Amino acid sequence: MHEVTFLCPKDLQDAVRLYRTTPGCRPLAGGTDLMVMLHARTLRPQPRAVLDIWSLAELKGVRRHSGMLEIGAAESYTGIIRSREAHRHVPALVAAARTIGAAQIQNRGTLGGNLANASPAGDTLPILLAYDAVVVTDRRSIPIDQFFTGYRKTALQPDELITAVRFPQGRDVVFRKVGTRAAQAISKVMMAVSRKPARIAIGSVAEVPLRARGAEAALERGDVDGAIAAVADDIRPIDDVRSTADYRRTVTQNVLRELLSVG
Ligand SMILES: Cc1cc2nc3c(=O)[nH]c(=O)nc-3n(C[C@H](O)[C@H](O)[C@H](O)COP(=O)(O)OP(=O)(O)OC[C@H]3O[C@@H](n4cnc5c(N)ncnc54)[C@H](O)[C@@H]3O)c2cc1C
Repeated sequence: MHEVTFLCPKDLQDAVRLYRTTPGCRPLAGGTDLMVMLHARTLRPQPRAVLDIWSLAELKGVRRHSGMLEIGAAESYTGIIRSREAHRHVPALVAAARTIGAAQIQNRGTLGGNLANASPAGDTLPILLAYDAVVVTDRRSIPIDQFFTGYRKTALQPDELITAVRFPQGRDVVFRKVGTRAAQAISKVMMAVSRKPARIAIGSVAEVPLRARGAEAALERGDVDGAIAAVADDIRPIDDVRSTADYRRTVTQNVLRELLSVG
């Protein structure tokens, strides 16, 4: 059994320094993904140190920043659900946060963890794509549509820490999560849509959470039927334990039709 060193930085600056200087180090926010992976020994390479960023004040909170809404990377889903600013400016994110796991996971799971984990089934990720969110790190800002680079791969450097996520204000986003049950379900299809500008973002239908560019172009022209037809070609679903590719394709078109009739 190999030993893992537990690092407790005193502030963000200390965390950034430790992350850059400790080989084989992984940040630990809520731990709802990381602890599962550590326990199952599925991480390659196995981390030699974990950096506990959960309590860092700089990574908490929901606030306005330069005309945008900013949510700290280590803010929990419960914190987002309880935030008045989040309700006012990113209600779709609040509603999506309510569908994640159950209370225990909402109390510990964070936006930064969902992003860095980069699962194609991560529920906040299509929402972030539909809002054109910006991922802020200890060294730069990354537009969300440049963040996911492959299956569970991101644009982050190995020692780069997500510090916050920023959202432009004044956008209407609607979403629908399709799972096996109403609670504790990993999404079979997760879709978030904005009409203006046209954004159609979908999870669990490709190796990354993706923007359906063909469908967006049709929607931009006001061609709703064209968008519903095009979305089937935008996605790259697979058969897996949760669903078949054919099912996901049909559901994706049905969900888009439904969201465009209310959105
Ligand atoms: C029972 C259960 C139910 C779940 N249900 C859902 C669900 O319905 N929908 C869903 O989307 N997810 C679900 N999850 C997955 C998980 O809860 C989320 O992905 C959560 O957002 C992860 O956040 P965390 O803070 O716990 O991440 P952690 O486990 O702390 O970290 C996850 C990964 O991100 C890295 N990381 C964390 N923070 C940062 C940062 N600031 N900068 C750089 N890297 C960072 C870590 O090193 C690790 O690799 C579930 C998990 C469990 C165990």
